[in-house]
Amino acid sequence: MAKEKKVSNKPKVAFFDFACCEGCQLQVANLGESLLDVLGLIDVVEFREVMSEKWDKDYDVSIIEGSITDHHAEERIKKIRARSKVLIAYGSCATLGGVNGMKNSFELEEIRKYVYGDKYHYFDSTPTKAVDQVVKVDYYVHGCPVYQPELVEVLKCALRGIPYAVPDKPVCSECKLNENVCLYDKGVVCLGPWTKAGCNSWCTNNGNFCYGCRGLVKNPAKNAAKDIIARYNLDEKLMKNKFEMYNKAKEVSNEPKK
Ligand code: SF4
Ligand code: SF4
Ligand code: SF4
Repeated sequence: MAKEKKVSNKPKVAFFDFACCEGCQLQVANLGESLLDVLGLIDVVEFREVMSEKWDKDYDVSIIEGSITDHHAEERIKKIRARSKVLIAYGSCATLGGVNGMKNSFELEEIRKYVYGDKYHYFDSTPTKAVDQVVKVDYYVHGCPVYQPELVEVLKCALRGIPYAVPDKPVCSECKLNENVCLYDKGVVCLGPWTKAGCNSWCTNNGNFCYGCRGLVKNPAKNAAKDIIARYNLDEKLMKNKFEMYNKAKEVSNEPKK
């Protein structure tokens, strides 16, 4: 007689991916010791990249990577939501639509023809949506890719059932604390003044500009933006394009659906 598999009472956690590069999953795999700390608290029951098992009951926590870009994905995320007590969107593709949102700058039909050629009718495609444009999201981990310490923090909050507030101050606030020389003083354009903090100014600490991957703060300093654009003689259209790289799908707001 086959031995019945013992099921622990740890929270059942599943990872799912939609349209994305899977770079945020890599961040999970690269967590090292902090991953071991978290793994001690949970049972990972589905994670396509690392295991083939499937779970047939409800999930305590579902962690979603990637944007929703076709009808099948919409149906799939709704089914996952229906089986999940808590749902976390992680990575800009999931939280904002991210780079996939650039598709929304073009006519869908044109894009489909460009990508799939004359067989484009066989390939379904919809305007890119962030996960919360289709289902309710309980927790957000922004970033492209996600910043590992924030991911661990959000996971711990989700497991304890307490809220996590995404910082709503600009990346500059962290950049200043890290004593970086402002890139504008070096003639480099940086989107830090208008982008949500929480990544510990990851890019500017390493000499790169901020490209807005965590989405815009709730009340971007529009006048300051105008001052900066005038002072540094920046091309307004070019600046808009830079913002749209991550923020096109949801434009300005990335707040949860009420
Ligand atoms: S957010 Fe960036 S790193 Fe993460 S899956 Fe999307 S494109 Fe890849
Ligand atoms: S380098 Fe960018 S993030 Fe840092 S202070 Fe300057 S504008 Fe802000
Ligand atoms: S510095 Fe800007 S682009 Fe870099 S991780 Fe932070 S929010 Fe994203």
